[in-house]
Amino acid sequence: MEPTPEGKRRYADDAGHYRPARIPETRLACRCTESCAHPCLGRCGCAACLAAFEDWDSFGLLHSQDTA
Ligand SMILES: [Zn+2]
Ligand SMILES: [Zn+2]
Repeated sequence: MEPTPEGKRRYADDAGHYRPARIPETRLACRCTESCAHPCLGRCGCAACLAAFEDWDSFGLLHSQDTA
């Protein structure tokens, strides 16, 4: 599956792909469009953004502002 042009912008480090922290040998193509939310959280069905969201959530980064 090829990343969309928007996916290549969002994941420019790996040409539109995201590598999940748990399975870094896997490259997920971002299928987001320009109308996608920022951050997308994978609600459009994009596996790359869903995996990225799960990684951020498991690292606790989404909640880091609560303790600041
Ligand atoms: Zn995406
Ligand atoms: Zn999306």
